[in-house]
Amino acid sequence: MDRLTPQQRHQTMAAIRGKNTKPELIVRKWLWSHGYRYRLNVKSVPGKPDIVMRRFRTAIFVNGCFWHGHRVAMPQIDNGEMIIYNSECCKIPKTNREFWVKKITRNQERDQQNYRILQENGWYCIVVWECQLKPKLLEHTMQQVELQLNQNFLSIYQRKPILFSESENEYLMVAEEE
Ligand SMILES: [Zn+2]
Repeated sequence: MDRLTPQQRHQTMAAIRGKNTKPELIVRKWLWSHGYRYRLNVKSVPGKPDIVMRRFRTAIFVNGCFWHGHRVAMPQIDNGEMIIYNSECCKIPKTNREFWVKKITRNQERDQQNYRILQENGWYCIVVWECQLKPKLLEHTMQQVELQLNQNFLSIYQRKPILFSESENEYLMVAEEE
């Protein structure tokens, strides 16, 4: 049931839409206090990720569960009607259901496109969901993020030697023996 009045709903959504929404601040605060440095809303990076960490070639998106449609399954068509099976955290209002389903599906498609473009340009994407930042889950979630960042960092440097041509490698080995 949609318990909010239109006025309340408007205010809620305006708050969710804002640039410095709370979930993003929680992630930033954690990263900063653990010594990570980053840039915010970098326009030159596709999809304008919330947090950009160039050193790790990683873009972090902090997604609100409602707007970005956090869910456990893909949308399915059942008897001509589109049904989205949601996880607990993305509850689509019963009123104007079709409108919300379309809108959120569009957001999901745009997100996927942004992640794809970033990956094609050699960036790693990490998506953190709002519901994973609840006090009880925060530490675990951020440890996962940290692990992913470290893996990304290693991949970048493991990838580098491949850039040498074979002859360059031989040259380097010879130089080392001397
Ligand atoms: Zn969620």
